[in-house]
Amino acid sequence: MAKNSLFLLPGDGIGPEIMAEVETIIAFLNGKGLTDFSLDRGLVGGCAYDAHGAAISEADMAKALAADAVLFGAVGGPKWDSVPYNCRPEAGLLRLRKDLGLFANLRPAICYPALADASSLKREVVEGLDILIVRELTGGVYFGEPKEIVTLENGEKRAVDTQVYTTHEIERIARVAFDLAKARNGRVSSAEKRNVMKSGVLWNQVVTKIGKEEYADVKLDHILADNCAMQLVRWPKQFDVILTDNLFGDVLSDIGAMLTGSLGMLPSASLGAPDAATGKRKALYEPVHGSAPDIAGTGAANPIAMIASFGMALRYSFGLIDLAGKLDDAIARVLGKGLRTKDIAQKGEATIDTRAMGAAILAEFKALVG
Ligand code: NAD
Repeated sequence: MAKNSLFLLPGDGIGPEIMAEVETIIAFLNGKGLTDFSLDRGLVGGCAYDAHGAAISEADMAKALAADAVLFGAVGGPKWDSVPYNCRPEAGLLRLRKDLGLFANLRPAICYPALADASSLKREVVEGLDILIVRELTGGVYFGEPKEIVTLENGEKRAVDTQVYTTHEIERIARVAFDLAKARNGRVSSAEKRNVMKSGVLWNQVVTKIGKEEYADVKLDHILADNCAMQLVRWPKQFDVILTDNLFGDVLSDIGAMLTGSLGMLPSASLGAPDAATGKRKALYEPVHGSAPDIAGTGAANPIAMIASFGMALRYSFGLIDLAGKLDDAIARVLGKGLRTKDIAQKGEATIDTRAMGAAILAEFKALVG
């Protein structure tokens, strides 16, 4: 059997510390014969700039393109604040997203009961929350042309960003959302602003058509993006999968993130189009947080977002749904036992470090997989 290939890009700051915890889980899975991952490692971000003078080398880009999935830690830090703009650490991530064609960004917002009090919302509003925000990642107003600031004849300046979507771009992200909903609770809420934006009118029409013609078994409703933001903080459990564009997705997914408490808990996945020959999608999995230079090297980093990102890889790239579910359960059990890294501890609560949290999750995971 061909091995499944994982390309690891730990990056800067806490990236290598949290990636190390994923590597121990992979070693356990491979050792048990439950998976057959082949691993390769590369540099991205500031460390790649130090080594190669670029935020990612061509050799590492080629490895990322060839891998079944990329696991990405985080990039950046004050050390690289003044490097040339096109070499800045984030350029490595943007290059990966572009060259891998990662148009679908998946951000789950899951509120573990043990952490419900860490949310700024009331326990009953967030406890047991499990929603998924599917954001279009490569189109819309962040990329549309013209995009410029021009000086008018009267000396005043005029800034333009252009919101553009084509039928094809909307269809492919809609299919991702509908497919995911089928494997969840069978509901998609599509958020746009059809009342004031032409792109919203087209978005609404295309999503409606795809839903009707290809996913009659999924319940589709449409919601204006501003109302969606309001409903997310009023009663988020009404949603299953939220489908939205790049701009609204940026905002809505950050609201979703804060429902759950801490940045250190939030995984994400970015997926490309299915390969014509193999049906496999290019994919990159990464925690939502950055490189946290303020705590790098102190052992205070929470590895859960990184471990849960690997869980998403098990689920979405390798179809290992049962193992992915058990990894999520292991995280929930550890939290249920009261183990906390500093970022998720309440005042006065005892805390454990990155390695102890990784080890506790691995121990629960081992118990669950038997
Ligand atoms: P950040 O996410 O790195 O940190 C924000 C705060 O959250 C910090 O106080 C940090 O200590 C804490 N935090 C983040 N992740 C944590 C974890 N796993 N466990 C415990 N605490 C955690 O954001 P920032 O401080 O704005 O940016 C720091 C650097 O990261 C910058 O160079 C920025 O450009 C970069 N960044 C990278 C990415 C990425 O790689 N995808 C994303 C955001 C920011």
